[in-house]
Amino acid sequence: DTITFGCSGTVTLTAAGGNPAERDTSGQRPRIGVFVCRCGVNIAGVVDVAAVRDYAESLPYVAYATDNLYTCSQDTQQIMAEVITERNLNRIVVAACTPKTHEALFQDTLVNAGLNKYLFEMTNIRNQDSWVHRDDPAAATAKAKDLMRMAVAKAALVEPVKDTELDMNRRALVVGAGASGISAALALSSQGYPVTIAERSPAPGGQAMRLHTTWKGEEVRSRLEALIEAAAADPLVELECNAEIASVEGFVGNFTTTLATPFGNRVVEHGVAIIATGAEELIPGEYLYGRNRDVMTHLELDALFLDDPSRLDGIETAVFIQCVGSREPTRPYCSRVCCTHTMESALKLKERNPGARIFVLYRDIRTYGEREALYREARLAGVMFIRYDPAAKPRISTDGARIRVEAHDPVLDRTVSIPADLLVLATAVIPRTDEKLAGLFKTAVNEDGFFIEKHSKLGPNESASDGVYLCGMAHYPKPLDESVAQALAAASRACTLLSSEKITVSGAFADVDQAACSGCGVCIEICPYSAPSFTRERPFAGCAEINPVLCKGCGLCAASCRSGAITLKGFAPEQIMAMIDAV
Ligand code: SF4
Ligand code: SF4
Ligand code: SF4
Repeated sequence: DTITFGCSGTVTLTAAGGNPAERDTSGQRPRIGVFVCRCGVNIAGVVDVAAVRDYAESLPYVAYATDNLYTCSQDTQQIMAEVITERNLNRIVVAACTPKTHEALFQDTLVNAGLNKYLFEMTNIRNQDSWVHRDDPAAATAKAKDLMRMAVAKAALVEPVKDTELDMNRRALVVGAGASGISAALALSSQGYPVTIAERSPAPGGQAMRLHTTWKGEEVRSRLEALIEAAAADPLVELECNAEIASVEGFVGNFTTTLATPFGNRVVEHGVAIIATGAEELIPGEYLYGRNRDVMTHLELDALFLDDPSRLDGIETAVFIQCVGSREPTRPYCSRVCCTHTMESALKLKERNPGARIFVLYRDIRTYGEREALYREARLAGVMFIRYDPAAKPRISTDGARIRVEAHDPVLDRTVSIPADLLVLATAVIPRTDEKLAGLFKTAVNEDGFFIEKHSKLGPNESASDGVYLCGMAHYPKPLDESVAQALAAASRACTLLSSEKITVSGAFADVDQAACSGCGVCIEICPYSAPSFTRERPFAGCAEINPVLCKGCGLCAASCRSGAITLKGFAPEQIMAMIDAV
């Protein structure tokens, strides 16, 4: 079944079923059906939809035109399928929202009506018209007619394209054996899929092993050890420690990854991969860190709570400094976990030493969501909060015995001087900036060094590379509960592929006319997905060929080939020229 989220909160569940045989439309005169969407008031509140529908009816080859309140709704999909059959339509145009979210739904409807799904054209009269020209309805209506004329001109020339089916390898590779990676692996194995976990360090657990408790007070280490034990006892999970990813070949459904281990290279064949490589704590170079044993990071304080709590007894004054290394010009992001961690640690210190004076020097307190209750609790417990300006950071000195922290208190408008037994630095979460791994899996890291998701709303656990998913701190700083939730979500998305024996690869890929190719290599350099390469096969050895499985149909190569040797299926030159002529 297909679930589609439309605007205005519409949710459509389209039932899958046996599809009718595909109609042979070859040689037929185009009979175009046009569906103009009102999208509630999203489009109809600005564009004169009836006028656009009537205009569409007047265009060449249009055999039928209508308008709908919500074209993506289940009932409209059924009506559309019936109309296609009854009117013997062989090309469909939908003027609505964006193909990014809705093209697949409409293409399913074409398939349900016995039409090849590529006999379809979508034009965006919402995001690119009614939304951006809401102050000028007349111009928006005129633009919708222009867009309609272009779409119909192209639709008259579109041809059926065949998708390719490949075997699906149903093993998963999880890169990283921290809390996220182990959680993802167990979620996959519980659904019956074999998983290999590759961990670069000698033991599993990652940074979470160093955490004392979650913000809700749950013990981390013992629970994580239980997860690791469960993975070790699971016959479907194999854990390979001291394993670096040396190379990755192949594509969604059929990856071949080589792991470099101390015992030699090991090859893993898998259909999907989940990147869960985590992040690290910044080792600061300021505030006397490394020069005074009473200055420490959050994780080092957690280590004392876990392994040497008596050292924290008798503390009279403790100071926390927030945003150490975060929200700086070189690292502008918020590390998201440190404010909450400070509230937890301050409360635990108060519990051990009820008379202790605890100060938090902060820029903004970002204990988001329910974590705000911890902030309130800390204030009620007597923890004192002093805001500092990043242009006038706290100054730290020592007289040999005790640390002294000086900061300007904006409420008192005077400098306060705090002699402290303990100085805790809320240091930034920093990425591993694993560009090599990103390159191997043909995904990318952002300017901060974290892996980038496909789309913040439509693909938050997926990378741009098909079959490669993301979770945990490798993606961006997040607390343990969010990391585990994302690990389960990534595993869930991976199962949508693993659950099939075959994988369908889009037929809309670029193709090289090798007789016209000069072998310049521009397409090989420009393709973000490494789909083109030089062929060695005669008679065109040295010319480009494109792997249809890797090609995403972005069109960069077709637009860049100076020999005009590349054609993108579904975007043939005559189709593009027809659109340009129409406008
Ligand atoms: Fe809105 Fe129409 Fe797109 Fe559905 S198909 S989201 S109703 S524009
Ligand atoms: Fe051949 Fe065009 Fe690629 Fe150059 S850009 S190698 S001419 S297909
Ligand atoms: Fe690469 Fe895009 Fe060309 Fe496909 S269309 S080969 S993804 S540049």
